Amino acid sequence: MASETSAGLKVLHGLLHQLAETETGLLEGPRRVAVADRQVAAGEQQVEQQKQVIKDARRTADEANLRLRSKESEILKLEGQLNTASSNKEYDIIKGQIVAAKKDRGEIEETGLLGLEAVDEAQRRLKEIEAELQKRRQQAQAVKSEYEVLKPKLQAGIELLQQQISEAEKVIPGSETATWKRLRLAHAATAMAPLEDDFCSACSTRITSQDMVRIRTGVFVYCRDCGRALYEA
Ligand SMILES: [Zn+2]
Repeated sequence: MASETSAGLKVLHGLLHQLAETETGLLEGPRRVAVADRQVAAGEQQVEQQKQVIKDARRTADEANLRLRSKESEILKLEGQLNTASSNKEYDIIKGQIVAAKKDRGEIEETGLLGLEAVDEAQRRLKEIEAELQKRRQQAQAVKSEYEVLKPKLQAGIELLQQQISEAEKVIPGSETATWKRLRLAHAATAMAPLEDDFCSACSTRITSQDMVRIRTGVFVYCRDCGRALYEA
């Protein structure tokens, strides 16, 4: 049977753990909001980059279209020259130039077609990225609203726990108050350690038989090795 002091310290330890968890929850909210905001910013950047990809693809397609028109007028001009050729040799040369120009035209057409396909593909991708961004914005809004609802509850919880802790700390003798306050400030919930058999559960040091007797008779005892407040669970 644990002493009254040990029983009181066990309650205090439980409250300190609850306080630590609630405080972590309070810090977790802004962290999650920041992560969600960063994802929105990254999504916005992706949209801008994709718009640039579309612009570039469109420019390539437009340039191919211009080159195609100029190649077509070149072919027309060569075909006109064919009729006015003054010799068989000149005729063959022009014929050869027409064949080459038509080959070029085929290549330019191919480039233009690929350019248009790239524009379509890039626009389709933009829609996906925009839909994803929309989702991220909703997500960020949800995270913020959730935290706004949770925050006052956590704050109220912390306030209540602090009151309960002050009450529970009455188990600590007045002569130890200053030492205990320093210990708690430094280690929060880990300022205390329950015994495991006759070992300190924090540092695994065996408790002297003298200290065991003191703990069992309700004396407030620190671990001689790690300095934590000991109690029998
Ligand atoms: Zn210890």
